[in-house]
Amino acid sequence: MGKLFGLIGHPVGHSMSPSMHNDAFRLLNQEHHYHAFDVSEKDLEAAVTGIRALEISGFNVTIPHKVEVIKYLDEVDAEAKLIGAVNTVVNVSGRLIGYNTDGEGYLQSLLKTTGDQLHNMKVLVIGAGGAARAVYTVLSRYSVSELHIANRTKEKARHLATECNQRRIEGTVWSLEEAEEQLDLFDLIINTTSVGMSPRVAELPIQLDKLKADAVVSDLIYNPLKTKLLQEAEAKGATIINGVGMFVEQGALAFEKWTGTAPDRKHMEKVVLQQLGGL
Ligand code: NAP
Repeated sequence: MGKLFGLIGHPVGHSMSPSMHNDAFRLLNQEHHYHAFDVSEKDLEAAVTGIRALEISGFNVTIPHKVEVIKYLDEVDAEAKLIGAVNTVVNVSGRLIGYNTDGEGYLQSLLKTTGDQLHNMKVLVIGAGGAARAVYTVLSRYSVSELHIANRTKEKARHLATECNQRRIEGTVWSLEEAEEQLDLFDLIINTTSVGMSPRVAELPIQLDKLKADAVVSDLIYNPLKTKLLQEAEAKGATIINGVGMFVEQGALAFEKWTGTAPDRKHMEKVVLQQLGGL
C-alpha cells in the first residue's frame, strides 16, 4: 500500500516539492503520495501530533518551522543539531527522527562543479541565517582550505562561526563592506542571503568589483534562475552555480531516507526547471 509523505511550512502554495517527489514516486512505480500542508506557527505542535496519529511516513519542514520543529521530535541527528535546524523527518515505527539534508544537498551539488578541488579553495559564505548554518557546517566538515563568513549583522556571523566550525578551519568574520574589499582573496563565494530573490531581483548582496576572474560564485537562490549576482559574476568570467542543484539534492536525500531508494535526480531537476520556467 502507498504511504503518505509531506511538507509542513507557511506559506507552501508555490512549493515545488510535491511535483518533484510525486513524479519520482511515479517513475519508480511507488504508490506513495507527497502533499504540502500549510501550517501556521501556532498550529505546529498540533500538526506534528496529527502526523503521528495519521502515521505519515516522513515529511519535509520549511520556513518558518525548521528550528521550532526540533522540540516536537523524538531524536535529531548530530549534524542537524549542529546546524540547529531540521528539514527532513523520518517516522520510524512512531519515532520521529530529524535530519538536515540542506547542507549535504548543497555540498553534493557544489562538488559537481568543483570536484575535489573544493579542498583547496578559500571560501566566503555571505549570510548567517539558517541556510548559511547548513552550508558553513558541511564546508567545515569537508575541510575546505579557508572558510570565511560575512554578514550584514556581523555578530550573528561570529556566533555561527563559533558554533559550526567543528574542524576549526582557518577564516575570518567580516562585515559585508570588509569582504567586498578583500574579495580577491576568495576562490568560491556563496550567497546564502535572500538578497536578489524574486521579486527584488535588482539587488546585490555584495559588490563584485574585486572578484577574481577564475572564481566560482554560487547563489542558493533558484528564483530567478540567474540572480543579479550570478549575472555580474558571469560577465566577469566567473563560473556560476544557482540554487536548483541544492534544491534537487536536498529533496533526493530526503527521498532516500524515506524510501531507501535513489530517485532519478536528472528527472527531478527537469520537473523543477519546468516549474521555474527554465525549460
Ligand atoms: P534567513 O534565516 O532568514 O537568513 C537570511 C540572511 O539574509 C541573513 O543572513 C540576513 O542578514 C540576510 N539578509 C536578509 N536581507 C538582507 C539585506 N537586505 N541585506 C543584507 N543581508 C540580508 O533565511 P534562510 O533560511 O537562511 O534562507 C536564505 C536564502 O537561501 C533564501 O533565499 C532561500 O530561498 C535560500 N535557500 C535555498 C535553498 C535551496 O535548496 N536552494 C535551501 C534553503 C534556503 P541579517 O543576519 O543581518 O538579518
